[in-house]
Amino acid sequence: MPITAVRLDDSFWLPRLETNRQVTVRYDLEKCAQTGRLANFAKAAGRQPGDFKGTFFNDSDVYKVIEGASYTLAEHPDLQLEAQLDRLIDDIGAAQEKDGYLYTIRTIQPDRVQQACGKTRWSNLAHSHELYNVGHLYEAAVAYYQATGKRTLLDVAVRNADLIDRTFGPNKGQRIDVPGHEEIEIGLLRLYQATGEPRYLKLAQFFLEHRGRPAGRKRLYGPYHQDHMPVTEQTAAVGHAVRAVYLYIAMTRMARLTGTREGGNQKYAEAVKRLWRDVVTTKLYLTGGIGARRAGEAFGAAYELPNATAYNETCAAIGEGLWNQQMFLATGDAKYIDLLERILYNGFLSGISLEGNKFFYPNPLASDGKSPFNQGSCQRSPWFGCSCCPVNIVRFMPSIPGFIYATRAADLYVNLFVGGSGTMKLQGMPVKISQQTAYPWQGKITIRVDPTAAQTFALHLRIPGWAQGRPVPGDLYTYLNASTKPFTLRVNGKAVTPSLRHGYAILQRTWQAGDSVELDLPMPIRRVLANNRVQADRGRVALERGPLVYCVEGIDHQGRVSNLVLPDDASLTARRRPDLLGGITILEGRALKRPRPEVQKTEGQGKEEQGPGTGSNDPDQPAGRPVRLTAIPYYSWDHRGAGEMAVWLRREKLSRKGPEK
Ligand SMILES: [Zn+2]
Repeated sequence: MPITAVRLDDSFWLPRLETNRQVTVRYDLEKCAQTGRLANFAKAAGRQPGDFKGTFFNDSDVYKVIEGASYTLAEHPDLQLEAQLDRLIDDIGAAQEKDGYLYTIRTIQPDRVQQACGKTRWSNLAHSHELYNVGHLYEAAVAYYQATGKRTLLDVAVRNADLIDRTFGPNKGQRIDVPGHEEIEIGLLRLYQATGEPRYLKLAQFFLEHRGRPAGRKRLYGPYHQDHMPVTEQTAAVGHAVRAVYLYIAMTRMARLTGTREGGNQKYAEAVKRLWRDVVTTKLYLTGGIGARRAGEAFGAAYELPNATAYNETCAAIGEGLWNQQMFLATGDAKYIDLLERILYNGFLSGISLEGNKFFYPNPLASDGKSPFNQGSCQRSPWFGCSCCPVNIVRFMPSIPGFIYATRAADLYVNLFVGGSGTMKLQGMPVKISQQTAYPWQGKITIRVDPTAAQTFALHLRIPGWAQGRPVPGDLYTYLNASTKPFTLRVNGKAVTPSLRHGYAILQRTWQAGDSVELDLPMPIRRVLANNRVQADRGRVALERGPLVYCVEGIDHQGRVSNLVLPDDASLTARRRPDLLGGITILEGRALKRPRPEVQKTEGQGKEEQGPGTGSNDPDQPAGRPVRLTAIPYYSWDHRGAGEMAVWLRREKLSRKGPEK
C-alpha cells in the first residue's frame, strides 16, 4: 500500500514517525550542512569555492535524507521543508556534468580525488561508490516526484541513468562491470517503475547478471562484494551485510517485476529463497539483526553470533526489513512479515534514540558499558564520519505505514498491527479498514471493515509465528515452553475458527460496512533458547513478550548484569510503566546474583563471553543471592546513561542433576 493511503493513530509508531518528521529529518539536513555534504554540490556546481569535504560517498547521505523528507512531505505538506529541498535539488542539478555524470568529488577536483575513487570515471568500481551514490539518487528522485509532482530531481536521475545506460552494456565500446556496493540495481528498478523506461530494467538486469561472472570483466571482486559466483547460484549470505541485502532486494524486486517472462528471472526468486533460509536459520540475531562481524561489517560463518561484539549495522537491519517486505510481496507468505516485525520492533528501532537525534551504527546484544563499540562510544552518538545509518533511518521510518496492509485482487492482508486506518480499492471497489490496538503491549486487535457496498473478499490476518510457539522459522531459536494459549478470533462478536494458510487466518465472506473482527493474540512472557551450535548463547536464555525482545540494564541491577542468573522456574510478570522510557511494559521477577565463573577474555568471533560451566547446573556452584530482575524492551536500552546490558542471561535449568547433553 502506498504510505499516503495509510493513516496511523497509535501510541507506539505514530510518536516515532512524528519525531522522525519533526526532529530527525531536520537534524540530518543540518548535520549534512555542518559537515559540508550539502556544500559539495554547490562547489561542484561552481557556486561556491573550496575543496570537496568528507568522504567520496557522502553524496549518497544527502540523497537518502531527500528520500526520507519526501516521504514525510507526502503525508504532511510543509512548504518550508519543500523550499529547502528545492534549493538543494537546484544545486544537485547544477552539480551534474553536461553528460549526466554526478559524483561531486570528481567534478570539484578531478585530479585530486581520494584513492578509492580511481583516477578516472568508473576505473575503480569495486570501491568508488560512483554507482552506489546514484542508486540512492534515483530512489530520492522517485520519492520526491511522487510526493510533490515536481520532476526536477527525476530529470537529474534520468540524465544520469541514461549516461550509465550508454556506458555499461554488452555492446562494442561499452563497459562490462558491476558496482562494488549494490544499490543502483534497486534505484534503476524504481526508476523503471516510475518512468516506464524499459532500458532501466534491462540495465538493472545487466548489473545483476554480470555479478560473479568473469566474462568480459577484468576481475571479480570476491565474496565481500557478493561477486564470487553468479547471484543465481549463491546459496550462503556472505560478505558485507548491507551490500548483500541490497543485492537480495534487487533480485527479489527483479523477480517480482518480470515474473517468469524472461527465462532467468525465476532463478532470482529461487536464489533469494535459499539465501533467506541461510540467514534465518544460521546468521540471524534474536533481535533480527544481521552481520555478526565488525571486520568488513560482514556476515559471520553459520552460527557465529557473538553478543558483545555483534555488529548488526542499523543499515543492515533496514535493508533486511526492506528485503523481507519484498519477499512477502513476491510470495504472499507471512513468515517474511514475521521477520520484518522482529526487525522493526527490535534490531532496527534500537538504532535511534527516543528523542530522534542519537544513533547506533552497530547494535550489539550485550555491552559492558565501557567498550566503545559505537564508532568510539559505548552509547548512541549524534553523528558518524560515515553516517549511512542516521540517513537510512530517516527514510525507513516513514516507510513503515506502507508495510501494514497489502492487497491483491480479492485479498486484503493485515500484516502489522498498528492503530489507524487504510483506504484501498479491492477489485475496483473502495474499502476502508481500521485497527484499534495497544500493540505491541497488548495482543488484542479490533478491526473494522468498511466497504462502500457489500463486497466479497478474503481478509488475511497475520498470525505471528511467536503467537504459534515459534520465534523464527527453522531451529535457530526456540521457546523453552513451546505450548501456547491459542489465539482467538471473532467476527461481529461470534467466535470463528478460520483456515490458516501461509501464516494467515483467512476470513472469506461478504463484508458489510461496519463489520468488526476481533483478534486476540495471547502475550505470555517467553523464554528463548538458541540452537546449541550458537556458542555465545549456550547456557543462556533470553526473554520475549509479543514481538518484543527484552534486555536487562545495569541501572536496574546495581550496575551489573553479567552476574545475573535466571532460573527456569523463576516466575516473571509484565507490568506497564507509562512513566518509563516513553511508556513501556517491563518484565519483573526474581533472579540470582552469582559471580561469573572463569571468563575467557578473548574478544572475537563467537568466543568472547563463554566460560566453562557458564549457566550450567554445576552442583558445585554457589546458589547465588536472590535479586529482583527488571527487563526492558531491547529497543529502549541506553537512555539512562552508559552501563551494562545483556539480552542473553545466564540460565539455571530446572533440574540440578547435571548438565544436559
Ligand atoms: Zn549504516
